[in-house]
Amino acid sequence: MRTFHCDHCGLDKERKENGGTGYADTPFGRACYECCAAIDREWIRNNRKDTLYLTKDAEGHYKISNWPRSFTIFPYRVRKTSASFFGRHGIRTYAWFTFEGKAWLGINQGDMDILRCRRLA
Ligand SMILES: [Zn+2]
Repeated sequence: MRTFHCDHCGLDKERKENGGTGYADTPFGRACYECCAAIDREWIRNNRKDTLYLTKDAEGHYKISNWPRSFTIFPYRVRKTSASFFGRHGIRTYAWFTFEGKAWLGINQGDMDILRCRRLA
């Protein structure tokens, strides 16, 4: 089996051949998806802004996740409005969620699944 070395947990893990590779190269070195989740959680805990991804699960419920999809938060409220941005007309989606007891608001402006999030309190 082919492996990669995770700079965070220090483990050699199996490199996936289908879909994702099993790791991401971050500004802090190579990280397995489990470590990506830990890094992202640490980031969101210590920062007031983050870029996450808004998608829907198989049942059509909105969910918010980090890039490797190794952690997921379900928003407690989602609202769509029509809006004008970048000279185009489109749908803006607001998603409210809590992370470790803190309220956050994420906004998607039709640019793929990108959700720009900021902490409200
Ligand atoms: Zn790791």
